[in-house]
Amino acid sequence: MNTLFGAAAVSARGRGVTSQRARDRLVATLREEGIRDPRVLDVIRTTPRHLFLDEALAARAYENTALPIGLGQTISQPWVVARMTELLIERGAPQRVLEIGTGSGYQAAVLAQLVDTVFTVERIEELLRKARRLFRNMKFDNIRSRHDDGNIGWPAEGPFDAIVLTAAGESLPRAVSAQLVEGGTVVAPLGPAGAQRLMRFTRSGDAWESEDLGAVSFVPLLGGIG
Ligand code: SAH
Repeated sequence: MNTLFGAAAVSARGRGVTSQRARDRLVATLREEGIRDPRVLDVIRTTPRHLFLDEALAARAYENTALPIGLGQTISQPWVVARMTELLIERGAPQRVLEIGTGSGYQAAVLAQLVDTVFTVERIEELLRKARRLFRNMKFDNIRSRHDDGNIGWPAEGPFDAIVLTAAGESLPRAVSAQLVEGGTVVAPLGPAGAQRLMRFTRSGDAWESEDLGAVSFVPLLGGIG
């Protein structure tokens, strides 16, 4: 786990729209919109989301909305990050968590404060390079990252206690579900653009329990590396 932001958090304090007040307002909104887990709300409150955005968009970092991060990709909406995190940690504390779709690195940073180790895979090298720089600067030494097609998971590091996809495919890639431990949880948006659903799958032996947790909107899960 990692709760240290050092200079980053300190320098953000009191700076208008990126201030602690703006973060507190965001947390109040998330609570009103059904996020209950106090651990998740605390982490959202203390994580400097503006640092995961280009400076031109930093002023909007604590709005409850997805924002562009370049290369046609987006940083997920805070509510979605909070909800997926809540769903992942609800049934015990997963130690090793795989994320597919590092993007800005924000979801990985949130998770890294609640679980032992986050393994995150991104197919666009330029995004991964930026995210790695942030992880280093913020001293997230429990985030491991890899430039690859997440459709194959991270075979050398599996199995994982929990897996989260932050890009939407038609179905769960077979290689990914094969890397989940018995009793583990997968949270993933599934379905075509305009009709995606947030799903949670729990594995017991060869049987999979699935829950439909409502409509969401994510960028597509693509194949290959960029
Ligand atoms: N978790 C991110 C959300 C980024 S958007 C955040 O908090 O900012 C989803 C990301 O998934 C994009 O960066 C996209 O490039 C990546 N992606 C899409 N298909 C992928 C694949 N097959 N393997 C790895 N990453 C993928």
